[in-house]
Amino acid sequence: MTTDNQPGSEPIAATNPSSGEDPLVAARARYAAEREKRLRPDGLNQFKELKGEYAEFNIDPYVEPGFTRDPHIEEVDAVIVGGGFAGMLTAVNLRQQGVTNFRIVEKAGDFGGTWYWNRYPGCMCDVESYTYMPLLEETGYMPTMKYASATEIFEHCQRIGRHFELYQHALFQTEIASATWDDEAKRWTITTNRNDELTSKFMVTAGGLLHKAKLPGIPGIEEFGGRMFHTSRWDYSYTGGSPTDPMDNLADKRVGIIGTGATAIQAVPQLAKTAKEVFVFQRTPSGVGERNNGPTDVEWFESLEPGWQDRRMRNFTEAVTGAKPQPNLVEDGWTETMWDNTQMAADTEAETLELERIDFAVMEKLRARIDDIVEDPETAEALKPWYGKHCKRLCFHDEYLPAFNLPNVHLIDTDGRGVESITEAGPVVDGTEYPLDLLVFASGFEVTTAFVQRLGFDPLGRGGIALSERWSDGAHTLHGILTAEFPNLAIISTMQAGFGTNFVHFLSESTKHIAWLISSSIEAGIESIEARPEAEDEWLNQLFGVAMGLMNYSGGCTPGYYNSEGVMTEQGARNVTYPGSLLDYIGFLNDWREAGDYRGARVVRSAAAQ
Ligand code: NDP
Repeated sequence: MTTDNQPGSEPIAATNPSSGEDPLVAARARYAAEREKRLRPDGLNQFKELKGEYAEFNIDPYVEPGFTRDPHIEEVDAVIVGGGFAGMLTAVNLRQQGVTNFRIVEKAGDFGGTWYWNRYPGCMCDVESYTYMPLLEETGYMPTMKYASATEIFEHCQRIGRHFELYQHALFQTEIASATWDDEAKRWTITTNRNDELTSKFMVTAGGLLHKAKLPGIPGIEEFGGRMFHTSRWDYSYTGGSPTDPMDNLADKRVGIIGTGATAIQAVPQLAKTAKEVFVFQRTPSGVGERNNGPTDVEWFESLEPGWQDRRMRNFTEAVTGAKPQPNLVEDGWTETMWDNTQMAADTEAETLELERIDFAVMEKLRARIDDIVEDPETAEALKPWYGKHCKRLCFHDEYLPAFNLPNVHLIDTDGRGVESITEAGPVVDGTEYPLDLLVFASGFEVTTAFVQRLGFDPLGRGGIALSERWSDGAHTLHGILTAEFPNLAIISTMQAGFGTNFVHFLSESTKHIAWLISSSIEAGIESIEARPEAEDEWLNQLFGVAMGLMNYSGGCTPGYYNSEGVMTEQGARNVTYPGSLLDYIGFLNDWREAGDYRGARVVRSAAAQ
C-alpha cells in the first residue's frame, strides 16, 4: 500500500505531543458514542412514505394540473421506466446500437429525474460538471462553471432529449400500473395510469437512486399549522423567487429546515439571504469541505481532445477509488479526500491502522475547517462530524458554514436525537417549541428500502410470480441487472451493481451494457434472457467476497442511508452495492460483453436462430 498523498491530506501525527494521548484512540470512542446515541430500533421504518395522509407532499408543483391525453396501445422493442439520466442514457445507447422502437415512461412532466424534481434554492452538483454532465462532446455543450447549478443540468437533460430526439419517445406524467411477462408471447405487457397498453420485448427499470422522497417520522407533523414541503417539491409560489432569483416572500417569515445532508447544505445559505429567521434542525452534521467553484476556462475547454470526457470520468473515478492516477485531472475536494480510499480492505493490521489514520486525518481537517469559519465556538462544536469519511456522504460548499455567522441563522442541534415532535406552531427540541411560518423537510430519499416499494409497481414474471415475492429476502441478480424468472427485464439500480462518487459514470457504463444486451439479443434472435439462479448465487458470493472490509467499516458508522440506518437485515445485506471500485465492476461488464456467450444467463432463442 502506498501513501503518496495529495498535498494537504498528510496523515496527522500518531500522538498528540502535548498530552501524550493518541487522538485516534479518543476519536474511536467518540465515533462509537455518537453512533450509539443515534441508533434507533425502528431503523428504516422511522420514515414516512409520501402517500396516504402525506400524499400531498408528493404532488408535482412544476406541471399544470388537469393533464390528459389519449392512451397509447402499441408494440415496441423496449419500455424504459424513468426519464432521468439512467433512462435517457439507456435510450441514447439503444439508438446508437440501432434500436429505435422504444418508449420512455416518466411520471414527471419532462426529462431530468433528480434534476427535474430538485429545484430548491441553491441546488447544484458538487461533482464537477465536466465529468458529471454526460454527453458534453456529443451535444457540443460547454458547462458555464466547474460546478453546475441544477437549472443548468436540467436544461442539459432537455438538450439531450432534443439532440437525440428522445421527446418523441416519451410518455410524461405517466406512471406504470402493471407489468406482466407473457412467457408464450415472450413479451411484457405494461399498463399505465393513463390507460396505455404497451407490449414490449424488453423492460428496463431506470427508476433512479433518489426519486422517492421521504419524511421524518416525527410525531405531530400533520398538526403543523404553517406551510410545509419537501425540498424536492419546492413551492416558489409560497417563498417567492425561483431557483435563480431571491425568495422575497420570506422577508417576514420564520423558516425551519429539518435535515443537514447534502441538500440542506445547499439550501440553507439561500434561505439565509432573504428569510427573517432560519432555524436549522440538526441530527447529524455533515462533513463540509471546500468547493472552489469558478467559471469554465474557455480556452482550456476548447483545447480538449476528442474522447476527453470518457478519459476524465475514468480519471476521476480512479482518483476517488484509490487508484491514484497521474495526473489527477479533476483535483478537487472529492479527489483529495478520497485519494487514499480507506474503504479498501487492508491486508495487515498495520495497513488497517494506517488507513484508519488517513481517514481520521481527512475528518480532522474538515473539523478544523469549522473552527476556522464558524465564529461561535458552541455552534462550531455542534457542527463537527464525528464519524469516518465513508459513513455519510461528504459535502463541498463554501457558503454553508459561514451562514452560521449570520444573525438570522440559528443551529438547533438535537444532539443526535432528532426533532422530538411538531406542534401546530412548530418543531419541539428539548422541550422548546420553535414557532415557524414555513417548515422545509430536507429529509432525503428512500435508498435502501425494498426495491419494489421504490419502483412503485410490482413486476409479475414467469408464472405470475411477483418480484416482491422472489426478492422477499433481498435482490437476486447477475451483475445487479438480470434476474431469474423475469426474462427480458434489465434493472438499473445500485443493488448488487456499481455506484461511484460520479453516479453518471456508473450510469454511462451500465446503460451501455443494457443497450448491448437488448440490441445483441434482438440481432441474435434471442427471445428471452434472464439470470440463472446459480449465477445469481455466484455473483452474490463474489460481492460478499469483497464486502467484508466495507461491512466492518459500516458497522462502526453513525446511522444513515449508507448503512440502512445502522440496522443490518438479510435484505439489506443482499442489496449490497458492489463494494470494490466502480472500475472493477465496469471491468466485469466489459469482460462479459466481450466474451459474448451470455455466461450465467438463461437464453431462449427463436426457432430460426437455433
Ligand atoms: P440525506 O438523507 O442525506 O439527509 C437527510 C437529513 O435529514 C439528514 O441530515 C438526517 O439526519 C435528517 N433527518 C432525518 N430524520 C430526522 C429527524 N427525525 N430529525 C432531524 N433530522 C432528521 O438527504 P439529502 O436530500 O440531503 O441528500 C440525499 C442525497 O442526494 C445525498 O446523499 C446525495 O447523494 C444527493 N445530493 C447530491 C448533491 C450534489 O451536489 N451532488 C446535492 C444534494 C443531494 P441524520 O443524518 O441523522 O439521519
